[in-house]
Amino acid sequence: MEDIKIRRPYIRKKFCRFCADKSLVIDYKRPDILRQFTTERGKIMPRRITGTCAKHQRKLANQIKIARIMALMPFTTAVIK
Ligand SMILES: [Zn+2]
Repeated sequence: MEDIKIRRPYIRKKFCRFCADKSLVIDYKRPDILRQFTTERGKIMPRRITGTCAKHQRKLANQIKIARIMALMPFTTAVIK
């Protein structure tokens, strides 16, 4: 039962990447960083998957929403059937 938690397609480390790396800024002008915290469909990934702390997740969600309004990030992407 130990190795169930290992398989995570995205970020498997369970710590806040913004707390660990101070150079990583949460800014709507950096969609390249924000994109790592959204799914390929443009959805914001939940904290339980990314491991981001509450404080940074709040800021992240806010900045992603700003980035969307500024057309730097998609609200959603078209589904190709
Ligand atoms: Zn944090």
